[in-house]
Amino acid sequence: MSKPIVAIVGRPNVGKSTIFNRIVGERISIVEDVPGVTRDRIYSSGEWLNQEFNIIDTGGIDIGDEPFLAQIRHQAEIAIDEADVIIFMTSGREGVTSADEEVAKILYRSKTPVVLAVNKVDNPEMREAIYDFYALGFGEPIPISGSHGIGLGDLLDEVVKHFPKHDDQDYDEETIKFSLIGRPNVGKSSLVNALLGEERVIVSDIAGTTRDAIDTQYTVDGRDYVIIDTAGMRKKGKVYESTEKYSVLRALKAIERSDVVLVVLNAEEGIIEQDKKIAGYAHEAGRAVVIVVNKWDAIEKDEKTMKEFEEKIRDNFQFLDYAPIVFLSAKTKKRTHTLLPMINLASENHAMRVQTNVLNDVVMDAVAMNPTPTDKGNRLRIYYVTQVAVKPPTFVIFVNDPELMHFSYERFLENRIRDAFGFEGTPIKLIARARK
Ligand code: GDP
Ligand code: GDP
Repeated sequence: MSKPIVAIVGRPNVGKSTIFNRIVGERISIVEDVPGVTRDRIYSSGEWLNQEFNIIDTGGIDIGDEPFLAQIRHQAEIAIDEADVIIFMTSGREGVTSADEEVAKILYRSKTPVVLAVNKVDNPEMREAIYDFYALGFGEPIPISGSHGIGLGDLLDEVVKHFPKHDDQDYDEETIKFSLIGRPNVGKSSLVNALLGEERVIVSDIAGTTRDAIDTQYTVDGRDYVIIDTAGMRKKGKVYESTEKYSVLRALKAIERSDVVLVVLNAEEGIIEQDKKIAGYAHEAGRAVVIVVNKWDAIEKDEKTMKEFEEKIRDNFQFLDYAPIVFLSAKTKKRTHTLLPMINLASENHAMRVQTNVLNDVVMDAVAMNPTPTDKGNRLRIYYVTQVAVKPPTFVIFVNDPELMHFSYERFLENRIRDAFGFEGTPIKLIARARK
């Protein structure tokens, strides 16, 4: 199930990013603790009443050096294109402005549900201010205060009411969903064509049923695949489509819907910050990852080149040490046949369940080899380990005190588990929990 998407729109300074940060809570800072990963603060996830959703702050998407009104118009269009529910944010301090009316005009044109929020209503006396906002034509305005954290619950109650009841884009459990992520021109579309051009491939070509995603369904040797939201194969034309933030946004959406993410690099160009950012997101979202180095035909090589390139990748993507690397050429089709087996492997490992007794043997052996850490005379005790989820494999370790589980020891256990079960291509999660 992909999560519903909520977009916040509104003119600058009404408090969009303040509310965004409130809604996503601590999640963003967690992300920034992952070495090598810094993420744009425009896309994250939130949760309300047990419903998870993704949220976009469209105010963070700047479209070149367009004039002010054109910017906010485009941001509203992006919200219409991408979101299931739109939060239209205004400010009770300034009242209704002509820029608000401009945004409203664009939102009228779409069927996407809109929830109108009036921010900066910091105290009860200010509630009077909201009545003017009925004039915008989106029903009852909801007073909130981002700085005081007032009214957010009412706002989210209203937002959640508009979530779609079911997802028409679900494929069956066995279908492997993957996406190709990478900068323009790394060869994503060429690679898709190479994959689909193989003889054994039967393309069912069912176009995406959601708004604008184009999913390609196909079958190889009786196994079903879906290529999610293939960048570069979609119709182009909107002004904002070429902007960096927007393409990051598209990539993040595709990642959300995938089991396996192919991080495509161009052998001729190496690695840039944006590659890391997006790969970091795939990691953090718990997706399986395969790193693909394309255009391998285009560079001068000797017997050391591949090893050197690999080292460079490992150095730049330290958090992806589990991801296999495939070198190939979409153009000459050299080694493109090695990609599908890697996708299969990563996908199988992503969904792997291990036997509890074997898992506990592995962990207890690890503890015997490398004693648990102590802190102020207290030693970490590990009682029992169990796998609680797949996609990605997630393990709960029952201990005396989770505080005693240091990052380095957790890392050690992760490596022992990986050595024992071979989780190539997938992140795994360990969660220490106190046994009462
Ligand atoms: P954005 O441009 O819409 O993303 O707005 P920001 O979130 O950056 O906020 C703009 C300014 O309004 C900042 O100085 C915030 O501190 C302030 N602000 C945000 N929410 C509130 C609020 O509820 N009450 C008051 N008084 N100020 C707020
Ligand atoms: P996308 O924007 O990532 O989808 O990239 P495209 O598939 O459109 O490819 C961009 C350019 O790179 C095109 O001119 C392709 O012909 C070229 N290209 C793609 N794959 C390869 C490859 O393996 N080797 C070489 N030399 N060129 C390639």
